[in-house]
Amino acid sequence: MYDIIIIGAGPAGLTSALYALRANKNVLILEAKSYGGQIINAHKIVNYPGIEEISGFDFATNLYQQVKKLNGEVKYETVLHVDEDKFVTTNKGKYQAKSIIIATGAENRLLNIDREREFVGKGISYCATCDGAFYKDKVVAVNGGGNTAINDAIYLSNIASKVYLIHRREEFRAEEQYTKELKGIENVYFILNSTVTALNGDDKLESITVKDKDGNLEDIQVDALFIAIGQEPKNEIFANVVKLNQFGYIETDDGVHTKTKGIYAAGDARVKTLRQLTTAVGDGSVAATMAIKEMKENE
Ligand code: NAP
Repeated sequence: MYDIIIIGAGPAGLTSALYALRANKNVLILEAKSYGGQIINAHKIVNYPGIEEISGFDFATNLYQQVKKLNGEVKYETVLHVDEDKFVTTNKGKYQAKSIIIATGAENRLLNIDREREFVGKGISYCATCDGAFYKDKVVAVNGGGNTAINDAIYLSNIASKVYLIHRREEFRAEEQYTKELKGIENVYFILNSTVTALNGDDKLESITVKDKDGNLEDIQVDALFIAIGQEPKNEIFANVVKLNQFGYIETDDGVHTKTKGIYAAGDARVKTLRQLTTAVGDGSVAATMAIKEMKENE
């Protein structure tokens, strides 16, 4: 029996672990992929209080090391089921805890157009910092208008010969500081009010078809398309113990409490107004503190 099982080793989950381990709790962290969550792909973080600039990889690795130094136990297993008695079933085993913190974040949204899956690794990517280096001196496009897309385009402009930034609107969701920087880069070309409607090529991506707001179609030759159109949660497996909103995010009361006593949600997986690193680590600390407090009250 663990005190706390934390599902997800992104910033929210690892921060929960840090707080729980520092309170001498017996903690198991379950992670399906690799530690760090989405932030590990951020080229640079410049809005984290007290740290002027750090790469997402360094931030995530530092946090992971901090947890490992406190003897945090991490198992790389996929959670399949959670029940009200706090049993957690994974692809490899079954564990029980007094409290559970769900910090599973969200996954990349797909464009949902033909051949998208076929071209993954052959010109389609969802991670500029992972795959950008493959396109040195090549022509690439980024789709999206949020912080991820703009940061990806800035990053890729240093590697590729030409970067198209394709966005479905005229205005950007991204912070002005980033869009201003991107607009000043000479090998970046903006294609606004437009969507990507087709992916073309034989055995790899060779061009994309872009449709503007008047319905005009244009084929643009690119070696890669980086899709950065936001995230979607993957919380369906928790639907028996938490309430999900219409978009699949976990509804919480008072920040981190789900509808089941002793089960908490932290970070991007829950309904919230701002999904950022600062709010993820904030949630992580609150969820662990609440779990510890409420476990004590039940003793
Ligand atoms: P996001 O803010 O949700 O932006 C998604 C973008 O994709 C929006 O511009 C949206 O267009 C567009 N989009 C959504 N669905 C689309 C579709 N089907 N077809 C075409 N375009 C579509 O996502 P994000 O940029 O990944 O950022 C997620 C969170 O992480 C945000 O809170 C962000 O601030 C944070 N983040 C922060 C940093 C940093 O500070 N360094 C870096 C990366 C991410 P509309 O605008 O028209 O809706």
